[in-house]
Amino acid sequence: MAVNLSDMDIGELKGVGAAVKEKLQKLGIATVQDLLFHLPFRYEDRSRIWPVSKIQAGDLVQLQGSIARNRVVQGKRRSLEVVLQDETGAVALRFYYFSAAQSRALQEGAFVRCFGEVRMGRTGFELYHPEYRVVDASAPPPLDGQLTPVYPLTEGLQQTRLRQLCQQALVLLKRHPLKDSIPGELISRYQFPELNEAISYLHHPPVGADVSALVAFRHPAQQRFVLEELLAHHFSLLSVRESIQVHPAAVLVENAQTESAYGAQMLAGLPFQLTRAQQRVLDDISVDLAKPIPMLRLVQGDVGSGKTVVAALTALRAVEKGYQAAVMAPTEILAEQHLRSFQQWMTPLGITVGWLAGKVKGKKRDKVLAELAEGEVDVVVGTHALFQDDVKFKALALIVVDEQHRFGVHQRLALKEKGVEGLVPHQLVMTATPIPRTLAMSAYADLDTSVIDELPPGRQKIETVVLPASRREEVIARVHHACREGRQAYWVCTLIEESEALQCQAAEASHQLLQQTLPDLKIGLVHGRQKAQEKAQVMDAFKTGVLDVLVATTVIEVGVDVPNASLIIIENPERLGLAQLHQLRGRVGRGHVASFCVLMYSPPLSQTGRARLQVLRDSDNGFVIAEKDLELRGPGEVLGTRQTGLMQFHMSDLERDKNWLPVIKDIAPTIPHVLREQLKHRWIGDRAAYAEV
Ligand code: ADP
Ligand code: MG
Repeated sequence: MAVNLSDMDIGELKGVGAAVKEKLQKLGIATVQDLLFHLPFRYEDRSRIWPVSKIQAGDLVQLQGSIARNRVVQGKRRSLEVVLQDETGAVALRFYYFSAAQSRALQEGAFVRCFGEVRMGRTGFELYHPEYRVVDASAPPPLDGQLTPVYPLTEGLQQTRLRQLCQQALVLLKRHPLKDSIPGELISRYQFPELNEAISYLHHPPVGADVSALVAFRHPAQQRFVLEELLAHHFSLLSVRESIQVHPAAVLVENAQTESAYGAQMLAGLPFQLTRAQQRVLDDISVDLAKPIPMLRLVQGDVGSGKTVVAALTALRAVEKGYQAAVMAPTEILAEQHLRSFQQWMTPLGITVGWLAGKVKGKKRDKVLAELAEGEVDVVVGTHALFQDDVKFKALALIVVDEQHRFGVHQRLALKEKGVEGLVPHQLVMTATPIPRTLAMSAYADLDTSVIDELPPGRQKIETVVLPASRREEVIARVHHACREGRQAYWVCTLIEESEALQCQAAEASHQLLQQTLPDLKIGLVHGRQKAQEKAQVMDAFKTGVLDVLVATTVIEVGVDVPNASLIIIENPERLGLAQLHQLRGRVGRGHVASFCVLMYSPPLSQTGRARLQVLRDSDNGFVIAEKDLELRGPGEVLGTRQTGLMQFHMSDLERDKNWLPVIKDIAPTIPHVLREQLKHRWIGDRAAYAEV
């Protein structure tokens, strides 16, 4: 009888009772096939002894030698320091928790075999709390013949148990092989092992296996699963897209060539003409809006490329057809700024622009909600608050999300619900963080992309200098000079230890210092802990030129637009990502005077730290900077997935496996539909491709 391991309940394995089954379920393992795909995420190599002289920080090593010294060190924390010596060198084993018996066992002269990770410690390379055993120097026990697989675990489930269950599953696999989930053509192109062979190999690497390839995750058997998993995620994102686009959407444009009457009116009132790039992106949008399915478009445009006008002109398309549009920004400051721009542009056209942020409460909120439900507001601007459950629209047809990288796929999915009469709103997401192409393709497979790759004419180049904080006085003098010349300056205090409270304190301290040093200037302070009204007042005062200097936390990162500001000082820039620094720097260079950015770092600066700041000094192109950032920091940091868990992988590591990213999009269309479903099922199952944040 044909047995399909994808249907075989995990409970059929020996030793899997209700309790174990429940734990396996936490790992997403319900069937024998699930278990087979629960592959080791690393290996421990106890098949050889490393010479001490060859070890490097980060290596997992097995060492053997005699104890040359044993002492208790009273440092910041008391520890037992044991020096192990072989023919090639000596290394310290350090124990912060240790018993008298342990200390005695590791006495001078004892012969020891140990296993652990090498780290940089107080005496150089050290092993912290390694596993160890005292062995007979003349007849040491035999080494392992094989690599030891290490599995992702959950509480109460041991490695040994998983290893033993996998052995059972492998026996079943021999008798009931699985169907391959990638086409033979790809297997031969990349010289991958066949599916069943690859599974067995990884759970149970044979004697003589290529240890260093396995440890580095570069073995073809591993790489084939990395590719499978990346493909599965890609397809899963595509199905997010499909699940939105099976629904109809309001047609907002007769045909892509139709000019917008409101748009023409708004443009006539602007003191500038659209750039070719803006026009091209608007054309892409018109094509989308002429279709009866929801638009899903990402607009990438460097800082200052003029995304807001594009958003406004798109919103007008909805209003023109009698629908509503909602514009969401990630921070209140940015949302307020959009509100002002939209009011300025749209009120003359007789369009009502509404406002809804978290701080809008009570009666005011009720009023806005009623207006949205009645259709009295045409365009509403706000923050996350716009998408709370009780916010109902009369006829919402378009959602604009600004600075998209802070919103996840699931939020995009939730927006489906906000439409009316079965119509799903069109979605336009905009980001000023240029996402390197390779990443955009895999992380945003659910969105079409357009790029505004041109800045409005007449923009000033921003000269960037990198200085140590010891030259603060000079920098302050520079601020003074600029302000005396009638210009304005930003002074930005960056994140300290991830704490908003501390960041605000730092800003308060800098504010005080500047006020004391420059009593003839008007210096304002804005940070995330102030009330919305207070923030708005300060921002207004800066915008209207009442304030000379604005001391701020990174709350001003996105969107703030004050053309007369020509100098920005960024304290501790080494703590921020390049893209974020580029954003911040983009607050200046918006007017007609030459602009400057001072990156004032706290020494000492690491090699990479220096290299990163130099990238910023040497380039003003957001895409170039993003690519460099990717090179220096890795995709997890760049996409913010590390913090947000935006995408979760078992086998893949976006940094290590980044070579696959550019090819995923080319390979994907060659995978037949059945295999796509199989891949999604095997790698993602019922989970979505993204985590709930
Ligand atoms: P971002 O893309 O960073 O959001 P904004 O939309 O804030 O950029 O635009 C930055 C500034 O450039 C604003 O003052 C805006 O009015 C102006 N702007 C936008 N488009 C043009 C254009 N085509 N020509 C000149 N100025 C423009
Ligand atoms: Mg913007």
